[in-house]
Amino acid sequence: MDIAGGENDAVPHVLIFPLPIQSPVNSMLKLAELLCLAGVHVTFLITKHNHQRLLHSTDDDGGVESRFDRYPGSFRFEVISDGFPEDHPRSVDDFLDVLNSLQGVAEPHLREVFLRPEKGRKVTCGIVEATFSYAFEIGSEVGVPVFAFETISPCCLGVFLCIPQLFKAGKLPLIKDLGEDQETPVDVVPGMEGLLKVRDLPRFCRTEGPQAEKSRKLFMAEIHSLRKAHGLILNSFKELEGPILPHIRTHFPNTTYMIGPVQQHLKTRLADRPPSSNSLWREDKTCIQWLDEQPDESVIYVSFGSLSTLTMAQLMEVWHGLVSSGVRFLWVLRPDILKPGGELSDQNMVTQLKKNCSQNGQIVSWAPQEQVLAHPAIGGFWTHSGWNSTLESIIAGKPMICWAQIVDQLITRRVVSEVWKIGVELEDKCDRLSIEKMVKELMRSRRQELKKSAQKFSKLARESVNNGGSSYTSLDHLINDIRRLSSIEHFENTSS
Ligand code: UDP
Repeated sequence: MDIAGGENDAVPHVLIFPLPIQSPVNSMLKLAELLCLAGVHVTFLITKHNHQRLLHSTDDDGGVESRFDRYPGSFRFEVISDGFPEDHPRSVDDFLDVLNSLQGVAEPHLREVFLRPEKGRKVTCGIVEATFSYAFEIGSEVGVPVFAFETISPCCLGVFLCIPQLFKAGKLPLIKDLGEDQETPVDVVPGMEGLLKVRDLPRFCRTEGPQAEKSRKLFMAEIHSLRKAHGLILNSFKELEGPILPHIRTHFPNTTYMIGPVQQHLKTRLADRPPSSNSLWREDKTCIQWLDEQPDESVIYVSFGSLSTLTMAQLMEVWHGLVSSGVRFLWVLRPDILKPGGELSDQNMVTQLKKNCSQNGQIVSWAPQEQVLAHPAIGGFWTHSGWNSTLESIIAGKPMICWAQIVDQLITRRVVSEVWKIGVELEDKCDRLSIEKMVKELMRSRRQELKKSAQKFSKLARESVNNGGSSYTSLDHLINDIRRLSSIEHFENTSS
């Protein structure tokens, strides 16, 4: 395959389009690099807002763009507006509005990109975040195959695929007599009987009102249009989530590629070249020096991802719980961690907490998470059960405290604690005493048992991306299919 893409060559050229938030931007950039390594051209469609943040936060590493200079002519960003003014806060509460506004810009843009008649650079297929249902519709309309990339875990996807049935059967939304109904078992997924309750489902299954209605509409469109995807790419590995695949296939008969964890996959294929950042916030690397000075497995890493917000009261409970556990901690407090609408003095309080950390604790605004989790000083991870964080913890073999807040995190938490047994669950009630108890449980009393299971899955994750492993083979399968699609496209163009 001529990766430079001469005029007469069938050059595979993929358009990648992530959701405009940190975790999909990160995992889909890793997928982009895996494809570039295989000689596939990539155009990465990104919002102007995130592109600027990405360039700014990675400039001390030479910038994200310079990393792709290793693949001359193979990678480029294509920048579009999300339709919002640059100074808009784009808080998590605005997320659905941002998606709506982005759709207005992205729909005509995708149509134009898919039809652009550039010799040697024509887009031969798309890989888009599964949420963008309109991209599959446009792909089938203009005859460009579009793959769906799922940034949630296959176990969650398996459950989500059943939700439309539950609505159709009138079993959802379940909102009457909230307390009791929350405990109703959800036994729709074969193999997961007895595991899930209604309270593990996304909020729109348990509430009513305009916000729930908006989320439900978006969700239903995603599930409905997923069938139009040419294939489904999953960021997980068969040794962890293989059992859910037959169930997913009953809803999605096209090819499924389980190629993850993409984080580890890229690292392995780059032969452990130093990690490079895809962060939208500037990473504070001083925490690595601090970790270097701590005893092995003595520190708990605390981060609630890129979107979760806390009230000031919750934040203080976390602080007191951590301090009174006596366990060393490294805590990520993003600059926008506080729920909007709090007091002005709250932000000063956060600054004070950062300053007042003792020898036992460190607070940073954003950490190089994969590096942190891999550090020998880290003994456990208190996470919000976001899928990327969960995978990164699994790769590193670190057990977790799961404090899930929204959407897929609720199911991930349940599977982590009750199926894989690599974590403990912190109930919604998150007071200082429960926190202290959980931290001690994770880092002391249940340490050996949880660490053993976590390390078993870490080994399996690493093996899956080694030459001949399940995810390695699946990625090769995907790359071959992408090449085949470009040859078909090439053949059709040259013979017409
Ligand atoms: N992350 C990071 N530094 C931090 C906190 C998070 O690099 O200080 C990254 C983390 O490695 C992960 C992503 O942010 O890749 C969070 O994704 P996840 O799916 O866990 O949660 P979300 O942010 O989507 O809720």
